[in-house]
Amino acid sequence: MRKKIVAGNWKMNTLLKDGMELAKAVEKLEKEKTSDALVIIAPPFTHLSRVKELIENVKLSAQDCAYEASGAFTGEVSPGMLVSTGVEYVIIGHSERRIFYNEGNELLNKKVKLALSEGLKPIFCCGEVLEQREAGKLFDVIREQLEVGLKDLSTVEINEVVIAYEPVWAIGTGVVATPDQAQEMHKFIRDLVVELFDEQVAENMTLLYGGSCKPSNASELFANPDVDGGLIGGASLKAEDFLAIVNAY
Ligand code: PEP
Repeated sequence: MRKKIVAGNWKMNTLLKDGMELAKAVEKLEKEKTSDALVIIAPPFTHLSRVKELIENVKLSAQDCAYEASGAFTGEVSPGMLVSTGVEYVIIGHSERRIFYNEGNELLNKKVKLALSEGLKPIFCCGEVLEQREAGKLFDVIREQLEVGLKDLSTVEINEVVIAYEPVWAIGTGVVATPDQAQEMHKFIRDLVVELFDEQVAENMTLLYGGSCKPSNASELFANPDVDGGLIGGASLKAEDFLAIVNAY
């Protein structure tokens, strides 16, 4: 059975006190939710262990992880450290990591493999920039990101992965993909997962849409047969808006 998920990526927002208030509010509203979607929040690293104490139904994700397990990597946070604070998911390959920190597909593949081996579930992001879409290269870009990023994963491993399609032109811009654009790419991704893995893996794979998703547009995006939820940036910083998106299912 394919899981429905709505995940909130807080990015570099909230000081600890505000983050803890937000987590408490999300947990409270989650208990009253009307949908069966799994709710995940991804606060900044500094908040994770405190937030973990405040949530029960809501699951915890990190926004990134290191590609090495331990050692002389100043400033990095390893998957094992995340697991030790109660984190279950990790966003890998967000376009802000790809663009601002030059994270390429090979490096992201290392992160995915290490995260899985340490017991984290990756939320693996892919997405094209506007120029690539306009040049008709969008499917090639997504194919390469997924072929390389998810290379050499076993069936057991790939079954733990969630894929988030996040067109870069829609992230934080207020420009949302149309339901047809989202469905077209999600169908392409599901077919690609059949090709790279198998039918069963693809059938069970949760595919999230991300990019300016709001309470007002979530239900038409989620109505698509291959959209299994959302990765939400800006609108996840207000518990009411975030849960309104969850309840859009
Ligand atoms: C994101 O960054 O993952 C995202 C979807 O952002 P926003 O919802 O703000 O467009």
